[in-house]
Amino acid sequence: MNDSPILSYKRFKPSEAFDAIIIGSGLGSLTTAAMLSKEGKKVLVLEQHYQAGGYTQIFKRRGYEWDVGIHYVGETHRPYTFISKLFNYITNHQLKWSYMGEVYDKIYFGEELFELRAGKDNFIEQMKIYFPDLKDQQAIDQYVELVYAAARSAGSFIAEKALPSSAAFLMGNSLRKKALTYTQKSTLSVLKSLTNNPKLIGVLCGQYGDYGLPPAQSSFFMHAVLVKHYMNGGNFPIGGSSQVVETIAPVIAESGGKILTLAKVENIIIHKNKAVGVRMEDGVEINAPIIVSGAGVMNTYKSLLPSETQDKHQLITKSKQVKPSVSHVCLYTGFEQSTSDLELKKPNYWIYPEGKYDHDQLVADFNNNPENDLPVVYLSFPSAKDPDWDNRYPNKSTIDIITMAPYAWFAKWEDTRWKKRGNEYEEKKAYFSERLLNTMYQYLPQLKGKVDYHELSTPLSNRHFCNYAQGEIYGIDHTPKRFDQRFLKATSPIKNLFLTGQDIVTVGIGAALASGAVTASAILKKDLTKKIRNL
Ligand SMILES: Cc1cc2nc3c(=O)[nH]c(=O)nc-3n(C[C@H](O)[C@H](O)[C@H](O)COP(=O)(O)OP(=O)(O)OC[C@H]3O[C@@H](n4cnc5c(N)ncnc54)[C@H](O)[C@@H]3O)c2cc1C
Repeated sequence: MNDSPILSYKRFKPSEAFDAIIIGSGLGSLTTAAMLSKEGKKVLVLEQHYQAGGYTQIFKRRGYEWDVGIHYVGETHRPYTFISKLFNYITNHQLKWSYMGEVYDKIYFGEELFELRAGKDNFIEQMKIYFPDLKDQQAIDQYVELVYAAARSAGSFIAEKALPSSAAFLMGNSLRKKALTYTQKSTLSVLKSLTNNPKLIGVLCGQYGDYGLPPAQSSFFMHAVLVKHYMNGGNFPIGGSSQVVETIAPVIAESGGKILTLAKVENIIIHKNKAVGVRMEDGVEINAPIIVSGAGVMNTYKSLLPSETQDKHQLITKSKQVKPSVSHVCLYTGFEQSTSDLELKKPNYWIYPEGKYDHDQLVADFNNNPENDLPVVYLSFPSAKDPDWDNRYPNKSTIDIITMAPYAWFAKWEDTRWKKRGNEYEEKKAYFSERLLNTMYQYLPQLKGKVDYHELSTPLSNRHFCNYAQGEIYGIDHTPKRFDQRFLKATSPIKNLFLTGQDIVTVGIGAALASGAVTASAILKKDLTKKIRNL
């Protein structure tokens, strides 16, 4: 008998009644589900993939395990932060984190290394060692102050997203006002107002891959929220990122809820502008008084609703105001030696070509010609970050190697089947795999000849497994324009239909978590975030 609250759709009896149905099992969905469950609601989570967790999922091959969308998370080592309290609440304190140590990110331009040190003062002090010129030092101080000010404005900006339209009409402008100062400026314009040193700008934007847009295109708000999020260091889930869903699922089960895998929702059933249920891919209809979509706002508004509803609320027109974020290729590598034997450490590497500090130029050049410099190569060392790894996988190690790659380069294979996309596709994968491996060997020469297994994911992998149409890794792109879209929120113009996940707040584990709390508050019409803050 299978007692796990995570089960295949095939084992489900549609006659069972639920208080709410949630589409998708990403962290936003899981958080909403757990919070509703804590308030006594019986929730059904429907996930199209065979693994639950959205981008927190793991996958296994040939005796190795890899995480997909968690390399590090800020704030979980500080017990009084909202993120810590909320994770503890929705997991009954079962999700544990391991701190990455003093240095969380290492930014390389060729051989030039810039380490990001945990703690505001340490961060500033270290940057000033790299940039001793007085003007640069002043710019660094001003920059950090601005980062903190912008990050402080996020609370009320996000809170507004829980309000129904009438309340948002009355209070929205004042709740958004502070944040708008930062959301509507590009990262580059803010940095240029502080310094004209391109190297300093290049270094301070060295983590831009965490939100996917180079400085001239990204909103400074996004940049600041991200930089502040990691300013006190990074953490990794002990036991790997599968622990996210494993520790939340029992809480969802406390009120009788379930998570079904291989459960693709075809569309949301609307009756007289009210969401009343979902229709599954096999035609089965499941009804519930509340429907939540954590499947991405684009998916929800463009694919899951009937055309009359789309037209009535101009949802297609609204969706055209935003665009999908970047897509990527990731080389998942496995080694038959322990992390200590291989001398792997915890900090992530962000690798840029020597002396090229203009991230926008690098991205543009690469998008024009894939044979140009890789605009960034990111190395993450999950087996070194997880203290439980050696218990689960003795004498093995893993490294993820990532770069960006436009969906267009892979689009011609979008109608082919996973693992059966043909020789040309495999050749393209081999090309990127080799370039990524060579970059890794440059920085970690001790690994040469030691890769036991590697497999490259492409934007089509994300499309297949997470149902993002263009393989986008971060949902909707984080431009200034995105942050001006009032429709990216928990409530919708359709009665009893709610949204959650990264698209209604921003990319990131912390943000997806917060989105879940915002959505649960909107559904129950009470501020659950206050309850969490007071824990
Ligand atoms: C490569 C990568 C690295 C990342 N690294 C980090 C990191 O180090 N730190 C960090 O904080 N963040 C990181 N992120 C971002 C973070 O993982 C995401 O922002 C977050 O997990 C998104 O959560 P979500 O709730 O929006 O849902 P998602 O995780 O996007 O999940 C949505 C789910 O909905 C399902 N779905 C879609 N359509 C349907 C349908 N019709 N029926 C049923 N189910 C459906 C999908 O299959 C998917 O499981 C990373 C992301 C990626 C991709």
